[in-house]
Amino acid sequence: MAASFDAIIVGTGQAGPTLASRLSAKGMTVAVVERDKFGGTCVNNGCTPTKAMVASAYAAHVASRAADYGVALAAKPVVDMMRVKARKDAIVRNSTEGLESWMRGLKNASVYRGHARFTGTNTLRVNDELLTAKQIFLNVGGRPRIPDMPGIDSVPFLTNVTMMDLDIVPEHLLVIGGSYVGLEFAQMMRRFGSKVTVVEISPRVLPHEDEDVSLAIQEFLLAEGIQLRLSATCLSARQESGGLSVGIDCTEGAPREHGTHLLLAVGRIPNTDDLRLDLAGVETDAHGYIKVDPALRTTNPQVWALGDCNGKGAFTHTAYNDYEIVADNLLSGADRKYTDRIPIYALYTDPPLARIGMNEGEIRKSGQPALVGKRPMTRVARAIEKGETNGLLKIYVEPGSKRILGASLLGTGADESMHSLVDAIYARLPYTEFQRHVRAHPTVSELLPTVMEQLQPLT
Ligand SMILES: Cc1cc2nc3c(=O)[nH]c(=O)nc-3n(C[C@H](O)[C@H](O)[C@H](O)COP(=O)(O)OP(=O)(O)OC[C@H]3O[C@@H](n4cnc5c(N)ncnc54)[C@H](O)[C@@H]3O)c2cc1C
Repeated sequence: MAASFDAIIVGTGQAGPTLASRLSAKGMTVAVVERDKFGGTCVNNGCTPTKAMVASAYAAHVASRAADYGVALAAKPVVDMMRVKARKDAIVRNSTEGLESWMRGLKNASVYRGHARFTGTNTLRVNDELLTAKQIFLNVGGRPRIPDMPGIDSVPFLTNVTMMDLDIVPEHLLVIGGSYVGLEFAQMMRRFGSKVTVVEISPRVLPHEDEDVSLAIQEFLLAEGIQLRLSATCLSARQESGGLSVGIDCTEGAPREHGTHLLLAVGRIPNTDDLRLDLAGVETDAHGYIKVDPALRTTNPQVWALGDCNGKGAFTHTAYNDYEIVADNLLSGADRKYTDRIPIYALYTDPPLARIGMNEGEIRKSGQPALVGKRPMTRVARAIEKGETNGLLKIYVEPGSKRILGASLLGTGADESMHSLVDAIYARLPYTEFQRHVRAHPTVSELLPTVMEQLQPLT
């Protein structure tokens, strides 16, 4: 006999817990299934721990530059990696334990620990128990992709998950993947004292970003002593005495890079291959992402997919927004769609990169007419005062409607200052109206209207 519920939620990532809370508050009976730590990737080995470690790395970096600010230190700053880890662990523990006790304390909800698999259209098995419900919500997230490169099975490697256990500073960290995850770890570990080499298959890091943005990021990473091996193809790995090496077929540089540790940061794959989705009539695309309609309903009308597993976002805020869409549609009669969402994200290097809407590459590809305004961070008062002038601000507008199409903000505080532009785009505000709003001085935000003073056609 299957235990019967109004709803089953599989996975406690960034959509499941709040959905469970909202459904149970409406009097629905809910089963919450989690096979690992509560909170999923973001809380346990994604956003929360990495940003805690980025903060420690920033402290080390500022301490190393203390003299630039007129501050003399009695001794050279020393990174205590065990304490960096302990600080990070305490922040993570607080979140994951808080989340678990929240779920266990929900009225009308039952928590199941184990791996869920479909046995039919609306039935799942968890350990020895069968669960059934009229509505099933999948929030199963993803995991690191392990590249199929020769030798990878014969060397020890790290991922964003196992990086969380590190309580030493690696002597020489090789990072395969010069994208979002790889670059955050690369800069952080360099600041903790590692020698770091980033190996990237494309001719520049962050190939999805505009070239000037990628090059500005490369410039400050190189200035911190990070080595970049770009256009690196035909990768292989080999165990060596005292470490390992990565074989690289590059136009420039040595054919092997030697290091003590290897981090793989080459993307993520969805946790959909072990759910027996076929038994529920839930289809996936060629990459394993669950196919959904704009309201996030799958090919089985009783099943919804939220968060990274649907491939419609790869961020905590997109997973959370998925929860809001599904809950509002089901409980408040709304007609919300993920397709109404403006793409936004931040890369937490120092300085951070904030991306809103379209970038130059995407605008060019779409053939959309656009004007662009640019300003280097060396001309932003707040950045000069903080001694953090790396980066540039770029904003695009549509010439006819004067609406803001997007922005790439690379600079100190960009992860916060981005949001006035996000709100302006949602409000469909012409940039000329955006420019009339007074902003506090000195901030990065106060310069955003100025970026749009000298707009040039994108040729
Ligand atoms: C290093 C790193 C840094 C990141 N930093 C940021 C950031 O700064 N900002 C940001 O917005 N995003 C960031 N992300 C992305 C963010 O972590 C994810 O987008 C977010 O966690 C997605 O949440 P989710 O709810 O889709 O799934 P997840 O958080 O992955 O949760 C899925 C849950 O489902 C469980 N599960 C899976 N299958 C089953 C099953 N069959 N049965 C039972 N349980 C199951 C898993 O155990 C897990 O707990 C980062 C990611 C990484 C890897």
